[in-house]
Amino acid sequence: MGFISLFIILGTLIASVIAQQQCVPYTSNYTFTTGFPPIWVKPGAETFTTAEFQQVNKSINWSMVPNIPPNKLVNGALDLSTYSTSDPNCWWSYKNCVTPKAPGLKPDISRCPEPGTWGLTYDDGPNCTHNEFYDFLKGQNQTATMYFIGSNVADWPYEAQRAITDKHQVCVHTWSHPYMTTLTNDEVLAELFYTRKAIKYVCKVTPLCWRPPFGDVDDRVRAIAQQLNMTTDIWNLDSNDFRMIPAGTFTSAQVDTIFEGFVEMGKNGTFATSGAITLQHELNNGTMSKAQQWYPQIKAAYKHLMPVASCMNITHPYAETNITYPSFNDLVGGSSTSGNNPSGGSGSNSSKKSSSVSMTSCISLISTVSIMLIAQLSSTLF
Ligand SMILES: [Zn+2]
Repeated sequence: MGFISLFIILGTLIASVIAQQQCVPYTSNYTFTTGFPPIWVKPGAETFTTAEFQQVNKSINWSMVPNIPPNKLVNGALDLSTYSTSDPNCWWSYKNCVTPKAPGLKPDISRCPEPGTWGLTYDDGPNCTHNEFYDFLKGQNQTATMYFIGSNVADWPYEAQRAITDKHQVCVHTWSHPYMTTLTNDEVLAELFYTRKAIKYVCKVTPLCWRPPFGDVDDRVRAIAQQLNMTTDIWNLDSNDFRMIPAGTFTSAQVDTIFEGFVEMGKNGTFATSGAITLQHELNNGTMSKAQQWYPQIKAAYKHLMPVASCMNITHPYAETNITYPSFNDLVGGSSTSGNNPSGGSGSNSSKKSSSVSMTSCISLISTVSIMLIAQLSSTLF
């Protein structure tokens, strides 16, 4: 074995050690045991009785929220069987309605308006292993919109901060990832409010956008989100990457066929007059690998790939008006340096944690290198 081979093995080993350590639950400087619902639990009575939540509830003008009863789940799936075919509630899960019927509600954002433009989005993060994926995006000078689950932000706060550092747009994707139209008004409010609060706590930004899990939104849910100053973001291209084995039943080849179709659409004029917003996920290694695999071909087939905020010319995607984000022209013109740069102490906390992980990795690495060098020398000598 030559030294070059040895260093290739060591490089692989380093990546493996770091990835594994990042997936080990860690204690951060952020506390979620008070002031938030239990992690990965749908908010309930213990949340609704807090003074904070009652104040939030009072701030909502409930007369502006349509009186639509929550939908039902049957065997874990939405029950569409008794719903009116006239789609009175603009229920996206029924027929992909994105133009609300209740008065005063803004339309959902479901496509980028500019021709040939692909709104690049990834749901369900932050993910404990996403650094390699974020490194890839950074290497491509590519930013995207990340729809973060509040409970994942609580579990992986330093990974959440990486999105801001890398100038991705961060939006809300609920606390516990439920079918939102099946929830009560208080549950809807808490799912949105506490996810936004978690993102503000960790990332120092207050998102003005959210995406419903499974796209499950109707005018009642939209009305509550709108009163929290959040746009409802949907998509018009679904990669179905989340259905891939092991999370679902799709084979890798089936998802490849879907991406091939997207590449074809980019070339055949499907998006000659307006653009797309995709649904992809940073759910697991499979979905993140698929995103990297198809990125070059998608990039070649479309004129522009960018975050939703940029394609919609939303230059202030957060409530913090001192934070600006690149417009469509900023990105197309190549001046994409004005991304989010929130101030606050989290950066130093993040650095501290990263350093500590790196130091541990280095110590492990030095031990491993020593053992391997001894083994190498032994095999050479004997
Ligand atoms: Zn999701």
